[in-house]
Amino acid sequence: MSIASIGRSTSKLKALSGIRARLVLLALIVVLPLMLDRVRLLEDTRSKQVAQAANELSQIARHTADAQREIISTVQAVLKSSAYIFAAASHEGRGCAIMRASLRVDLPWIRSLSVIGKDGVVWCSTERNVVGIDLNDRDYFQRARDTHEFVVSDYIFSRAANLPSLMAAYPVSAIQGAQEAVIIAAVDLRWMSQLLSNRGGRPGVSVVMVDGKGTILATPLENENLIGQQLKDTSLLEAVTLREINLDREFGSINFEDAEGKRKAVSFARVTGTRARMIVSVDQSALLGDINSEIRTAYLQLALVVLVTLLGAWFAGERLIIRPVRTMTNVAHRFGRGEFSARAANASLPSEFVPLARAFDGMASQLAEREREMAATNDRLTVIATVDLVSGLANRRAFQSRFEFEWMKALQTSSRLSVLMIDVDHFKPFNDTYGHLEGDACLNRIGQALSAIADSRSGFAARYGGEEFCLLIPNSNPAHAAEVAEEVRARVEALAIPHVSGALNVVTVSVGVATLTPIEAEPQDDLIEAADAALYAAKRRGRNTVVVHGLTRPTDKKVSLAG
Ligand code: GH3
Ligand code: MG
Ligand code: MG
Repeated sequence: MSIASIGRSTSKLKALSGIRARLVLLALIVVLPLMLDRVRLLEDTRSKQVAQAANELSQIARHTADAQREIISTVQAVLKSSAYIFAAASHEGRGCAIMRASLRVDLPWIRSLSVIGKDGVVWCSTERNVVGIDLNDRDYFQRARDTHEFVVSDYIFSRAANLPSLMAAYPVSAIQGAQEAVIIAAVDLRWMSQLLSNRGGRPGVSVVMVDGKGTILATPLENENLIGQQLKDTSLLEAVTLREINLDREFGSINFEDAEGKRKAVSFARVTGTRARMIVSVDQSALLGDINSEIRTAYLQLALVVLVTLLGAWFAGERLIIRPVRTMTNVAHRFGRGEFSARAANASLPSEFVPLARAFDGMASQLAEREREMAATNDRLTVIATVDLVSGLANRRAFQSRFEFEWMKALQTSSRLSVLMIDVDHFKPFNDTYGHLEGDACLNRIGQALSAIADSRSGFAARYGGEEFCLLIPNSNPAHAAEVAEEVRARVEALAIPHVSGALNVVTVSVGVATLTPIEAEPQDDLIEAADAALYAAKRRGRNTVVVHGLTRPTDKKVSLAG
């Protein structure tokens, strides 16, 4: 990874850990406990609803078993009363005749009633074609005869009716010990199935009644074709479930996952007094479908609320904090660029930022004020740096830069430039006689005179140092320069500043003049030096005079002085 990309990643990380991210985190901290509580409530609701559904399921199993039990009970009651009648009538040797005459089977689930002798052959029956059939090999007959108790058979295929049946047997010996006949009733399985059709009634719920051997006795009518089949051969239940159900339990519940991965719940209950069981199974996904979809919707709503909260925190952070900060940063940048007219308080900011914005604006006004003061101070300093306070003229430094400027200008325009060097005569004795302050006043008056001449002659006057002055006159020939020099000399003399040591008893000046047309590579100092030399000559000539330097090129090495 390159250093640049590490830098980018770091700044991204910093952006992520910025104020918005922190606000989002804060919102998350607030929302998370509420969210967890809501999730707990939802999961509670789900498990309660699941438990309620499981409870309902086992209720269905038991109620269905009870309903079937009622059928069996009525069959038992009918058989018992038939046994009484038969026992009483058989004393008179008219058992069958009385049975046929007195018994009325008006219960729709009893298809037929028959009496079987101890040899297993049907003596008499409400169905004539049954009489004479040998049922000695039937398990239910043998058990009833041997146990002297009411017995319900497993699934059998009725020989007489040629129909799948459930047989109930009641031995007459249970009433009268000596009698060995057994009363049997063929129970209509269709009726039982019809009963089951009314049960369940919920999506994904299947109800089935099986006998002790696992043969299906009754199902809701839509599965009627399964009656008589072994439950294990159908796809109704898994082998693992069947093993559980065959345990000798009165009722119970099992949860399992089928081969297709569907969760199923099975409740079973024994039909009391028989070996038959009611089995209610339910596809949990169908049963829990509604619950799950409700819970899913609740989770989605929850996720939406969390998302909206987090987005809200993000945008609120953007709007309430980041944007104002950005606005003020922009204003600060503008201040930095010197735009002091920029104002942060003009932007629409949240109230918390207004004092900060005002402080910002106050700072900007103060900065602007300071800058103005600084500019004024700079101007003053510039003036102080370039003006000589005694004479009121430009100082030596200002003269130097002006001289360089005029030199360049003359060089570019090939014009002439004249320099006048002016020195006060016998100034030391003046100071000695009148004092230094008077000396300063004298220098000031001479300065004023030079300034006036410079203005009228488009020149530039400066104090060169001590009691020396200079005057730059651009674009002037030596004659013109000499004329100006003479004006200077005369004007100072005319000031008539008393000076006892002066030749005329007034202050006078000597002036040296030099004029040159600058050329490339020529030292600027040559012109000054020439003017200085002319001044020196003027002093030698007796002072209060003007000398013009007859200047030739320094390259000629011939500097001669006029006069
Ligand atoms: P010369 O005619 O040859 O020029 O004689 P001079 O006395 O003028 O020349 P010198 O160089 O001997 O003396 C210059 C004097 O100028 C010395 C000093 O006291 C005086 N001076 C220089 N600068 C100032 C100043 O700023 N104020 C005052 N009052 N006097 C100054
Ligand atoms: Mg001097
Ligand atoms: Mg002097």
